[in-house]
Amino acid sequence: MNLTDYIKDIPDFPKAGIVFKDISPLLANAAATDKAIELLAMGLHNFQATKVVGIESRGFLLGILLAQHLKLGFVPVRKPGKLPGEIISQNYQLEYGEDALEIQANSIQPGDLVIIHDDVLATGGTAEAACKLVEKCGGVVVQCNFLMELDFLEGRTKIEKYQLHSLIHY
Ligand code: 5GP
Repeated sequence: MNLTDYIKDIPDFPKAGIVFKDISPLLANAAATDKAIELLAMGLHNFQATKVVGIESRGFLLGILLAQHLKLGFVPVRKPGKLPGEIISQNYQLEYGEDALEIQANSIQPGDLVIIHDDVLATGGTAEAACKLVEKCGGVVVQCNFLMELDFLEGRTKIEKYQLHSLIHY
């Protein structure tokens, strides 16, 4: 099975000039989803992770399944204003302007060994912000893993100090 058969290019989404990688066909196919989780788990190095952190919103989808597969808890990193209770924020640069991500303050304990998951690594700003949030909580990022990496955007340069694994490169 080739996972790329289940990822659809959508031209000019969400805006003109962007070719969006749509993972809906993969999610709609149980065997393809299973394969993706198995391969993400195989790409982990030999360490004892304690949590999977998924990034809103598509990082939640395979992130939760990966956490279950590894028998680990799942922690969401979300856009501002979505999480209740005490939160920690991290700003990051977009192509035009700035955005922020948030995590619940007590969701990661000092010493937690964390796998960060998202569907796509593009310019890397989102993943870098998620890594910083984990570290602000006292956690250690042991790997960033992605279903897809858009190599030409060189996002890995922003998170090069971490272990990085992407299943599919474009
Ligand atoms: P970055 O901060 O690396 O530029 O952007 C990564 C974020 O944008 C990820 O959370 C990812 O979900 C989203 N993203 C960017 N491009 C695509 C795309 O082509 N397909 C999908 N599914 N998500 C994308």
